[in-house]
Amino acid sequence: MPELPEPAVEEVSDGVFAYLQLHGQWGLNNAAFITAGDSVTLVDTCFTERRSRALADAVHRTAGDRPVRTLINTHHHGDHTHGNYVFGPGVTIVGHEKCREEVIATGLGTQALWPDVDWGEIVVTPPTVTFDERLTLYAGDLELQLIYVGPAHTTNDILVWLPERRTLIAGDVVFNGGTPFCVFGSLAGSLRALDTIRALAPERIVPGHGPVCGVEALDGIESYLRFVEETARKGHEAGVTPLDLARQTDLPDEFAALHDSERFVANLHRAYSELNGDPPGTPLPMPTVMPDMIAYNGGQMPQCLA
Ligand SMILES: [Zn+2]
Repeated sequence: MPELPEPAVEEVSDGVFAYLQLHGQWGLNNAAFITAGDSVTLVDTCFTERRSRALADAVHRTAGDRPVRTLINTHHHGDHTHGNYVFGPGVTIVGHEKCREEVIATGLGTQALWPDVDWGEIVVTPPTVTFDERLTLYAGDLELQLIYVGPAHTTNDILVWLPERRTLIAGDVVFNGGTPFCVFGSLAGSLRALDTIRALAPERIVPGHGPVCGVEALDGIESYLRFVEETARKGHEAGVTPLDLARQTDLPDEFAALHDSERFVANLHRAYSELNGDPPGTPLPMPTVMPDMIAYNGGQMPQCLA
């Protein structure tokens, strides 16, 4: 296990805090919270019980006795939703309608991938308020716009946009320093989501993984996704499997240097699906994709640092 920094709270705008679990590798997601009026609005939780309780402690240290009343899930993945239950039955959990479906359908299935992680006693707890395209919430007087941008990283990604603060809580549509991952969503949709973010013109972005950044971080994500798109187009035309294609491809240094670069082969699977004409977000056969990712990773399951 590499040496990891302690999770950190960073105030990105008055009363708006990022909760950062650096450096954002597998299992190390970010959350965010907004203190306003007499309560707290939280965006996302963590992968394990221990990490989610540490998040709850950090919120309490920062916000005092103000309770978390609203919890927003940016998408269904367990590293953003497993800890929902820690915040109690009195909390309203908001997410995309497909986020609720996927939280329920996935259950604790991810745990089988990483049996050595100390998961704790997780109680699967899906969103209780769902929406389709857009929803506006208020944290005190502060407007939070929830904007659906899926399928992108998953089928159910939403942005949390604070227009008065030019601040965006982006979920996993933005990985800063890690490899983008669109196997559960869409490659074309991931590119479109970047356009949506650019049009909002945020001054600061809390990414789903990695340090707080600005819009300049989107350029590297876009060039990676374009590289996947172009590589897949050639490989698909030549009839090469995603795994063989990944192995034959020299990943440029700037992409090889990103955390979790083994996601490349999984992303190629998604690109192939779209080249085959499947609708964005069509579920891929994980019993094929996961073994390919393991094979491309030298026969090892990628390490989860949760
Ligand atoms: Zn995710």
